[in-house]
Amino acid sequence: MDLHDFFFAPVPAKLAMALDLHARFGARLAAAPPVVFLIAKIEEAAAGLQQAMDAMAMAALCRECGSRPAGGCCSLEMANETDAVLFLANLLLGVPVTVQREDGRECSFLGPRSCILRLKPIFCLNYNCAAIRTGNTPSAMAALERAAGRLLTLQTELEAAILEQLLSTNELG
Ligand code: SF4
Repeated sequence: MDLHDFFFAPVPAKLAMALDLHARFGARLAAAPPVVFLIAKIEEAAAGLQQAMDAMAMAALCRECGSRPAGGCCSLEMANETDAVLFLANLLLGVPVTVQREDGRECSFLGPRSCILRLKPIFCLNYNCAAIRTGNTPSAMAALERAAGRLLTLQTELEAAILEQLLSTNELG
């Protein structure tokens, strides 16, 4: 398995690599102490981000924006921001990662209600659009940015820990 493909292959190939690695090494990865530690921290950080988003009623806001023609952030191009290690991290968090749509317009991982991924590409946590800023205070925006930043930091650490474990198995060249 080529490390370059892990990040730059087409989305279906990256997902297939992650599913294969999860089937072969998922149990070992899930038991590795750094992975166990980071997943627990990520659960906390994700709850914190959810709290900040709930306080700003973002679910309704994003749903309304996404329902408009050409609205929403989840375009097909965004699906290319995913990579195999991100998919693998989601699988380790118990997310059954599957392609949700192939309509040539929207991101493949946009489910019927919202994104199915618990860990998302970095651009998907950039909540700095005018629709969100309008009607929310600077301190609410700052709290949202802090919560998103904390989750992204931990997510990056988890991805690094997963890669380190895989490299130690000589699975990635
Ligand atoms: S939030 Fe999810 S569905 Fe939306 S673009 Fe990002 S990965 Fe795709």
